[in-house]
Amino acid sequence: MVSGAMVGEVMTTGDEALSKRGAVELVSVTKRYGGTTAVDAITLKIPAGGYCCLLGPSGCGKSSTLRMIAGHETISDGDLIVDGQNIGDQPPAKRGTAMMFQDYALFPHLDCVDNVAFSLRMRGVGKTERRAKAREMLALVHMEAFAQRMPAQLSGGQQQRIALARALLTNPHVLLLDEPLSALDPFLRVKMRAELRRLQRELGITFIHVTHSQEEAMALADLVVVMEDGHIRQAGTPRDVFNHPRTPFIARFIGGHNVVPAKVEAVEGGLVRLSGPGTGHFTVPLGSHVPPAAGGSMHFAVRGDRVALARPGVGDASPNQLTARATGAEYNGQTVRLTLSAEGLEDFVVLMDEAAYHADPIEDGATVRASWTPEVSHLLDVQ
Ligand code: ADP
Repeated sequence: MVSGAMVGEVMTTGDEALSKRGAVELVSVTKRYGGTTAVDAITLKIPAGGYCCLLGPSGCGKSSTLRMIAGHETISDGDLIVDGQNIGDQPPAKRGTAMMFQDYALFPHLDCVDNVAFSLRMRGVGKTERRAKAREMLALVHMEAFAQRMPAQLSGGQQQRIALARALLTNPHVLLLDEPLSALDPFLRVKMRAELRRLQRELGITFIHVTHSQEEAMALADLVVVMEDGHIRQAGTPRDVFNHPRTPFIARFIGGHNVVPAKVEAVEGGLVRLSGPGTGHFTVPLGSHVPPAAGGSMHFAVRGDRVALARPGVGDASPNQLTARATGAEYNGQTVRLTLSAEGLEDFVVLMDEAAYHADPIEDGATVRASWTPEVSHLLDVQ
């Protein structure tokens, strides 16, 4: 059993971890389908025993990347290294990887034991031995009681456990999961994702999980890899990526941030002063950015849950103030999601504690003043 990294802690990414069983490295890997470049020279190190989520919108190249690692798709260019071996030319069964498909791909005419044992049957393992091994795997996913059932007699969540047991039977170093939770209802999805995390920690093998859900990636991953248009735009721990999305695309995709376009006025003592949109003036930490030239355009991000709202005229010394009009309020349980609009800025979102909101509700069309401290904002790169 491997103790995974703590929630939000940085995983080991050194060479020591990469030399272990289950370490995966992509070196300038490209996938072309005819004239379409689906994955464009991506380089990525996934430490052994980690939970990695490939995250991005539909069509960004996540599944192609996973299928190349599995060996179900050829690599057009670049190297794939698993367990320290370049395995780009190896057939799927020789890679130490196993894949769990989105639709589970169970055989309808076989019961659970035979479904799980199928790959051993193909390898000529005797019936008693392969069924015993399959039962072990069923126990691992808490499905012993369903051993004799046919897939049609199982719920979606149970079918998924069978598919998982089948993938794990081959004793993979790396388990590849393509949108494994997308066919489940929201309640079961949350339950199964905790199960996946438990299994990954218990087995200590590397999981690479494709998803378009930022919530799923945040909940599961040690390493979140955000993809866009066949490129990796950011890779880091969930906390890194959530707190410091690097580009406007990532900030919007990860959520929780407002992206504000602005013009650079000056850089002074580690702070960047910006103007616009409208009459707004803002101060954002320079952070590790190269100081931008005055007069240039850039975007910054500000956390929606760290913005304070006040009625106009109420005093506030904050250097970041935006006068805006309330355009909508959505009740989300713990929070109310308020949308504001100002000159040159649509859909600025403020998340308010629901009790605070209801103590003094802001009606649609009201003018409000949003303010925040510089530390809850950061500059964004173009790409
Ligand atoms: P994602 O998993 O992020 O949705 P994919 O890897 O499935 O993305 O697809 C990336 C791009 O490659 C898309 O533009 C898609 O249309 C294209 N693509 C995927 N599979 C094939 C294929 N077999 N033949 C041609 N184009 C494909």
